[in-house]
Amino acid sequence: MSKILIVEDEESIADLEKDYLELSGFEVEIQNNGDDGLRDALEKDFDLLILDLMLPGIDGFEICKRVREVKNMPIIMVSAKKDDIDKIRGLGLGADDYMTKPFSPSELVARVKAHLSRYERLIGSNAQENDVVEIRGIKIDKTARRVWVNGEEKNFTTKEFDLLTFLAQNPNHVFTKEELFKKIWDMDSIGDIATVTVHIKKIREKIEFNTAKPQYIETIWGVGYRFKV
Ligand code: CA
Repeated sequence: MSKILIVEDEESIADLEKDYLELSGFEVEIQNNGDDGLRDALEKDFDLLILDLMLPGIDGFEICKRVREVKNMPIIMVSAKKDDIDKIRGLGLGADDYMTKPFSPSELVARVKAHLSRYERLIGSNAQENDVVEIRGIKIDKTARRVWVNGEEKNFTTKEFDLLTFLAQNPNHVFTKEELFKKIWDMDSIGDIATVTVHIKKIREKIEFNTAKPQYIETIWGVGYRFKV
């Protein structure tokens, strides 16, 4: 349930707005002066702010500016004077909407809903998607470091995962064991390149239907391996 803060010094207006919003399923709190309103807006967790312009204490201009500096939530500013609305727009304080009193409570509810859903969409589109590689039934989620083969999750050790991912991201490219060893184990080939062979074998056991006839990681005799697409 979305939580809304109303900062409004006219009690009858604040109560009316609260009633309508609560009927629409919102949770609503009221502050009737600028100082308490600013404190709550900054410290508490609200989804939307309905902010009157002329308030005892800190005014709506200042509250809007201060909230916008640190919080990403819709702010609807209301004022009794049309001139003030023009002034707010001119100041570019970052309010999302402006309403001149008197307005119908149902109009306010409609705007509240519209702004909340717009913010949800914005937040949704900013969410980072996982980096996924998908090739013929193999799905590698690089972000989560998980692998599925034909929909079934398989467990890989760190180096097996790195090796499979590297090959799958460079399909049809033949790599020598030395190249793979340098790439995945991140050191000059002093180590044992047989390690690569062992890891390829382990990976095949997890991804291939028949390890004797690999469909994914091919052995290029005398050269190395390639991930076939
Ligand atoms: Ca007022």
